[in-house]
Amino acid sequence: MRTSGGLGPFDLVRRVLAARRGDVRAKEDLYHLRGVFRFVALFAATIGLPGALLAYYGIQGISAQQQAGAARVEQDAELAADAVGVQVEAVFRAFEDAALNRLKSGQSLHAGLGEMSDALRVVYRFDKDGSLAAPFVRDEAEGPDPERWRLSESWRAAATAEATGDFRKAAGLYRAFAERQSDPLARGDASFAEARALLRAGETRSADAALATVERAWSAARSPEGFRLGDLARLKRAEILLAHDSVAGEAALRALAESLLVEDWTLGQGGEPAVARRALDLVSSLAPRDVVARLRGRLEERAVQLYWAGELLDELDSLGAKGRLLRQEPGTFSYRATPSALWAMTWTDTDQYVFALERDALLGELRLLALRSVGNRGDVAVDIIDASDAPPTDVRVRRPFARAPSWSLVAYARNPVELKARQSDEVRQAIGIVAISVAMIVLGLLVSARLVRRELDAARLKSEFAANVSHELRSPITQIRLKAEALQLGLAETNEQRSRHYDVIVREAERLSRMVDNMLDFAAIERGQKRYNLRPGDLVVTVQNVVESARVAMEMRAKTIEENYPEDLPPVRHDADAVAQVLVNLLSNAAKYGGEAGWIGVTVRAAANEVLVEVSDRGIGIAPQELAAIFEQYYRSSDPNARRQKGTGIGLTIVKYIMEAHGGRVSLRSTLGVGTTFTLHFPQGD
Ligand code: ADP
Repeated sequence: MRTSGGLGPFDLVRRVLAARRGDVRAKEDLYHLRGVFRFVALFAATIGLPGALLAYYGIQGISAQQQAGAARVEQDAELAADAVGVQVEAVFRAFEDAALNRLKSGQSLHAGLGEMSDALRVVYRFDKDGSLAAPFVRDEAEGPDPERWRLSESWRAAATAEATGDFRKAAGLYRAFAERQSDPLARGDASFAEARALLRAGETRSADAALATVERAWSAARSPEGFRLGDLARLKRAEILLAHDSVAGEAALRALAESLLVEDWTLGQGGEPAVARRALDLVSSLAPRDVVARLRGRLEERAVQLYWAGELLDELDSLGAKGRLLRQEPGTFSYRATPSALWAMTWTDTDQYVFALERDALLGELRLLALRSVGNRGDVAVDIIDASDAPPTDVRVRRPFARAPSWSLVAYARNPVELKARQSDEVRQAIGIVAISVAMIVLGLLVSARLVRRELDAARLKSEFAANVSHELRSPITQIRLKAEALQLGLAETNEQRSRHYDVIVREAERLSRMVDNMLDFAAIERGQKRYNLRPGDLVVTVQNVVESARVAMEMRAKTIEENYPEDLPPVRHDADAVAQVLVNLLSNAAKYGGEAGWIGVTVRAAANEVLVEVSDRGIGIAPQELAAIFEQYYRSSDPNARRQKGTGIGLTIVKYIMEAHGGRVSLRSTLGVGTTFTLHFPQGD
């Protein structure tokens, strides 16, 4: 709702120059412009600049936050890797200390592996020459080939006799077979079979004698099943003894088991533990329970070690040339990893010890440790992986494992997808906050700019109003003075001329008084001091009176008023003076903006719950975009046709106010170039 178009740069320059030349209007514009500049500067300082700073630092903050998020995970990963690293180190320290302590105090390394490490499966001792010394020995000789004698016809004959229960015959055939053999293994095997057949035939004494021979002559010979014949013979003899003399038998069996336990067993052979197990089974009901349990414990421990020693033998060999491993400072440890084990090696002055820590068990233990230390919540997890393991995705920290170079400790993002999603959520949130803040600031800026423009427009309207009022007042005063002077100086010669002069003086005085009334009312309305005296009455009478008193003035301006009143009208509560003022304003507008037509219509009619008073003209009309604005104070149309007429822009404001004070309203229909109808809506009733 601006009364003048926007100012282009040329207009500005023109007005500044005009102001210099003393043009009052241009000066006024310049004041407005200064006001605008002041406001713009104020906005820039209080809203624009902080907004720009907020946007700038907000964006900076977001990227910093993004980096901080990534750095936080990186930092967490470092911390987690440190924590787990320390624990892993402690595990190895504990293992090494325990091993060295046992070595120093001369305790057996083979008994009590679990005390050194839960993953420790076997300890090998090598002597200075690098050959395996304990707890097992290698059987370098080629194993016996049973096909050499057990598949021969004469052995099969003996075996058939034994299987069919003819033990005596079988014993004879085995003996004959033995005597024909030159191979000590075959001889020993056949002699033991002879003793077994004799025993089954019930010839205990001869059986015992035969077993004694086996024990003496072929003690170290190994049967195709992997037993040392000496062990088998001792077992059988002790069993025979047990049948006659339980005390002696028990002692013999226990002695057998104990001697087997301290011997070095042969890798790849299971005979020794099997014989010892059988001996212990036999004495289990005779010997003290704790003794048997202790022996059994040791036996099983060694059996497990034997199993692992056999399993890991190839990997042990792959470490160095057949166990000849790198000699190192006594009391220090070196490590190597193979597919199934992590090998720890240390030296004493005389021997080398090689500890096999089972890979899966050790990794399991360390992973559990990592889990305990880091927990299974948070963004970061730690794992220990081998070169052959697929590394987790999104590894943040990778540290080679000091004890096993092919292993590494990795700290990784537990759930990279979720982590990324969360980080971008955080960023989105920050962007959202900054965007909303900036949007609010921009909105504030726009609203403020609008308000400022409104204020400036209002200020302009007010100053225009002041100019209009003085103009409006001046013209009737001038007219009155001119005509009065003419009369005074006797310039009007005829009666007719004098009468015209008097008419002008009366008309202009009335116009003056109407304007002053309007202005006083407007001032009272603005101060909120205007009161109306509403009384039920006939609205037609009020309207007729106003039209009557306006008619003469209208006719002088060549305007005809067409009236339309209803026969019957319900009473309407109204302040007759105020309604008269409303009508005078509307009639005066209809006359001013009524164009050439000269027709003015005044209609009073009843509608649903309302009584309507319409004032119509066939004049210049009002542009649709100005329909709402014309009721605002000081507002005057920007249409040049309307501007040609004098006015102050407060008439319709008063009309609107008075109608609202009556509990009614004013509406309007208008078409540019066709005409305008103002309708006053009065509520019915008294
Ligand atoms: P003014 O003193 O300018 O007449 P008003 O408040 O009475 O002030 O009217 C405001 C504006 O509304 C006028 O300047 C004019 O542009 C427009 N207006 C009022 N009545 C009419 C009409 N009957 N026909 C066309 N325009 C009108």
